[in-house]
Amino acid sequence: MESSYPCKFDISAVEGGYKVTFYCIAVDKSHTVDVYDYHTIDQVLIAAWNESKKYFNRCHQCGAWVCDEHYNEDVMKCIFCQPK
Ligand SMILES: [Zn+2]
Ligand SMILES: [Zn+2]
Repeated sequence: MESSYPCKFDISAVEGGYKVTFYCIAVDKSHTVDVYDYHTIDQVLIAAWNESKKYFNRCHQCGAWVCDEHYNEDVMKCIFCQPK
């Protein structure tokens, strides 16, 4: 099954919550959010991803999440599957 959020992410505890950073599969771009009031790591990741996903694009071939630079909008695939 394809992952519903990027396979590359960091999660660290901050006071009262968590800080989550998601990365483009090429690790050139990232987006960080702070998440509070969730109890399980799954809930934290889902909440963080809901705030972060607008910064990423999903490849419709391999399922990877990439930044705009690594996305070929014309075919809705990452440039690793379909170079521009
Ligand atoms: Zn792809
Ligand atoms: Zn990228």
